[in-house]
Amino acid sequence: MSHKALEILNSLYGYDSFRGHQAEIIETVSAGNNALVLMPTGGGKSLCYQIPSLVRDGVGVIISPLIALMQDQVDAMQQLGVKAAFLNSSLSHSEQNTIEQQLRAGQLDLLYIAPERLIQPYTQELLANCKLALFAIDEAHCVSQWGHDFRADYLSLSLLQERFPNIPRIALTATADVRTRKEIAERLSLTDARAFVSGFDRPNIRYAIANKTTAKKQLLDFLKQRQNEAGIVYCLSRKKVEDTANWLTQQGFTALPYHAGLPAQLRQTHQKRFLRDDGIIIVATIAFGMGIDKPDVRFVAHLDLPKSIEAYYQETGRAGRDGQPADAWMVYGLQDVVRLQQMAQESDGSEQFKRVERHKLDAMLGLCEVTSCRRKVLLNYFADEASDQCGNCDNCQIPPQTWDATEAAQKLLSCVYRTGQRFGAMHVMDVLQGKETDKVVQHGHQQQSTFGLGKNIHEAQWRSLIRQLVVRGLLRVDIEGYSALQLTDLCRPILKGEQSLFLRVEEIKAPTAKKAGSKSARKAQILPEDQELWDELRECRKFLAEEHNVPPYVIFHDATLKEMLDTMPTSPSEMLRIGGVGDSKLEKYGGDFLDILRRYAEAS
Ligand code: ADP
Ligand code: ZN
Repeated sequence: MSHKALEILNSLYGYDSFRGHQAEIIETVSAGNNALVLMPTGGGKSLCYQIPSLVRDGVGVIISPLIALMQDQVDAMQQLGVKAAFLNSSLSHSEQNTIEQQLRAGQLDLLYIAPERLIQPYTQELLANCKLALFAIDEAHCVSQWGHDFRADYLSLSLLQERFPNIPRIALTATADVRTRKEIAERLSLTDARAFVSGFDRPNIRYAIANKTTAKKQLLDFLKQRQNEAGIVYCLSRKKVEDTANWLTQQGFTALPYHAGLPAQLRQTHQKRFLRDDGIIIVATIAFGMGIDKPDVRFVAHLDLPKSIEAYYQETGRAGRDGQPADAWMVYGLQDVVRLQQMAQESDGSEQFKRVERHKLDAMLGLCEVTSCRRKVLLNYFADEASDQCGNCDNCQIPPQTWDATEAAQKLLSCVYRTGQRFGAMHVMDVLQGKETDKVVQHGHQQQSTFGLGKNIHEAQWRSLIRQLVVRGLLRVDIEGYSALQLTDLCRPILKGEQSLFLRVEEIKAPTAKKAGSKSARKAQILPEDQELWDELRECRKFLAEEHNVPPYVIFHDATLKEMLDTMPTSPSEMLRIGGVGDSKLEKYGGDFLDILRRYAEAS
């Protein structure tokens, strides 16, 4: 490892050592070679192009689709004392001129640029006359036409190879299955590049998935343990986003809606508040979040089921980028399953496309229904190795009970059959439970041999049984026919008693934090006796953030403040040992924090 890169890591960023593949990647690119980097969110991708840009002569050009984030990235680099700027459509003519002049004069270390800007002949001419350190293509999965983040402009980026054959290129992404990875390499002319694939595990994220009963109340119970923490609540529809945000506001939370139907101005305001204020909840459709760089999102909650494990992984991945404990929480029910199955069926793709969609949905449902470690299922889906028990998901912490559901399933299936496969779940459950509703009487179903056969099983358990049979393809829901339940061929072995069925017992599990002391415990939790100092450190950060007009985490991350709290540095040299405190930040902010810490150290 070059001495220079490590020196930059220590003195500029204030970190001790490289993580995972960072050192190798930085070495590869610094030496002028191409690289393809797959690293989970929070893995530390930015350093992989920032440091080589500083090590090499010239300016590092970073192509990013996320115009809204460029300002923050540039701010963060400037806080470290790096000369960074961006070029995108948000700049005025004169601002743009200034940056172009700095660029020509070789005064910039980093230039962030939007892809649509880069492919303009004018920009290429401009760059051709500058000394370039490298090109970094961030969010590289945007070249994939299969993914939902596709950007046509990304396809033109192969021109970099033709136009600037001697400048090293590094492409980075957090979401890539093997197919997308191949696509990135081919479309960006990086088939010769060294690939660095890091595991997908996000050990600090705790996964929990529960049966949907009273969604709002379940959400509230979850949120009650997370007062004043920032998080995202995902809903499928715009209407539900607004309802949920209103409702949470009534419950005393600061919850802001975000969806594509809101005016751009309002969306931006909400996004900005989420980034800059503490403890804001964003309630959003999937339109929100791509590339949200906020490191201290403490939870991602899903009130609706994502349609694939890729989507789930990407959405939940927005939690805990800072490596501190975070929660991925979801509730789902029969309605979700039916709706997604129907969407997969009705999408206008080819038969093959539908098969792929269906397959992805099945994998997602498998993750929901599994009774063993969820992390293992998730990682195996991405062809990653995983131990049998992660200890940080609901199933590992409270292993679900299973029950022999064979007999109950037989009763249910035969009830569906005998009532003519014309009725929905509600009615079938009424018959099984022996309820003489108007509808039951009207159809004479109280005469059926299955009437009242299921009194000994709770309604929630019947509901879950139906859902699990639908997930397993033994029952089908006929959407056109009033959501009637129908049998499929797959249920024959069950009805004939040739196959038995073990299912999970539904219970609402209270999310629990891991035992204190373990690595991924909720480290961020502050002891009561430290609360006052903690609040003061955060207050100080907030004040500085407002003064410099940047989000608080650009000053220092929570983890950095927490380390101050734990180690109580009282001198600049002690302060420098804290992760995230480098020379420039020590000089700018060290004094303010040291004043507070010294005062507390003396008092105790
Ligand atoms: P990504 O872009 O892969 O999601 P980032 O580059 O934003 O991740 O890094 C995530 C966080 O980890 C940032 O706060 C970053 O400063 C921190 N980080 C990155 N590399 C290191 C390292 N070697 N040591 C300590 N912290 C690091
Ligand atoms: Zn687990």
